[in-house]
Amino acid sequence: IRERLVALEKDRMVGQLAATISHEIRNPLTSIRGFLQLLDQKELSMYDQKRYIELALSGVDQANTIINDYLNYAKPSTGLQEQLDIKKELEATLRFISPYASDHQVVIEITHDNEIPLYILGESKKLRQCLMNLVKNAIESMPNGGLISMRTCKLPGAVQILITDTGVGMTKEQIDSLGMPFFTTKEQGTGLGLVVVMSIIKMMNGTISFSSSLNQGTECSILFQQK
Ligand code: ADP
Ligand code: MG
Repeated sequence: IRERLVALEKDRMVGQLAATISHEIRNPLTSIRGFLQLLDQKELSMYDQKRYIELALSGVDQANTIINDYLNYAKPSTGLQEQLDIKKELEATLRFISPYASDHQVVIEITHDNEIPLYILGESKKLRQCLMNLVKNAIESMPNGGLISMRTCKLPGAVQILITDTGVGMTKEQIDSLGMPFFTTKEQGTGLGLVVVMSIIKMMNGTISFSSSLNQGTECSILFQQK
């Protein structure tokens, strides 16, 4: 069964986001503090010292990931609207993410239905962050490697970007939860990537939808109106 969710509207959640994020960062901070206190004991075996240091460091990493996923999003928009050639934006994204893809035995291909450049108005940095998050999820959905295809299409009055993977896919419940802050099925996930994605796409007056089959893969479609 293919499940579909169109025009995701999750931004009502975003208002509470800052408060929730402070809370999420406080958890690793509390545990870091605990491990530092444990380190401040006499007669601690080398083994325990090493263990507490590692645990404190992993708390630092965790806090850092939350901040990284969130910060770019929180950064106010410059409001600058540039003409963006989405083909170039896809290629730039690919260059950026290809080391991560290779690490995961993932091959990414880009295809264009049309020869002509496809322009939209927006901020390159934001669009790239958005594409990065989507491709990153696609890579992470294929634990044994696979293929991702990024495709551009010209529609009447609009352009479309399709990102398809052959990964684990999602259930309808999972699709319904996409974009909710902190929804993640990953051990090291933040559940913030798609919050960022949806907020950027909304800001650019675009729409995003997901279509997925469990154990077969996922297709993400982004539509931008052309002025
Ligand atoms: P994170 O990547 O930190 O988990 P995201 O907001 O980026 O947070 O994604 C939330 C969840 O949505 C993921 O944990 C995963 O369960 C699901 N998801 C997103 N994209 C895909 C995809 N391409 N294939 C399968 N599941 C996905
Ligand atoms: Mg993600």
